[in-house]
Amino acid sequence: MVKTEAVKFLVTEECGRLARWLRLMGYDTAQATMQSLTELYRMAYSQHRIVVTRNSRVSASCLFPVIHLNSPLLEEQLRQLLRELKLELDDIRFFTRCDRCNVPVEEMEKPLVRDLVPPYVYRTQERFFSCPSCQRIYWPATHWQRACAVFDRLQREVGHG
Ligand SMILES: [Zn+2]
Repeated sequence: MVKTEAVKFLVTEECGRLARWLRLMGYDTAQATMQSLTELYRMAYSQHRIVVTRNSRVSASCLFPVIHLNSPLLEEQLRQLLRELKLELDDIRFFTRCDRCNVPVEEMEKPLVRDLVPPYVYRTQERFFSCPSCQRIYWPATHWQRACAVFDRLQREVGHG
């Protein structure tokens, strides 16, 4: 069993949507854009990342464990990962990372975002976060609630939550 907080992923390029969802769940998830398998394995090995792929070339020749996703469907892929790694989702870690850059977001004082978000959002939201890499501003909105509902459902279905 893998210790949940320690889990880091390296997802190959055809699974970009999965990479973004893993980041939303709080997992450090790098995406492989390199063409060379050797480089991919080196990165996984040196950064202690679990390789996740749908590319059978990657899974067939890897010398250490790789998770080969059985389904092209996002929820099915998440379910497989939760099951195989016995991951337990932790809501404290949800939305703590930029889903594009994979870096931790930082909470911002509300007045600092006044000119950076739409007026309606500024009026109705209290907490704001920004990504130090791409400068995007995040706030807890309905898509967060929808994502949380998906996380909860997956956790229940997998049955060790
Ligand atoms: Zn970012």
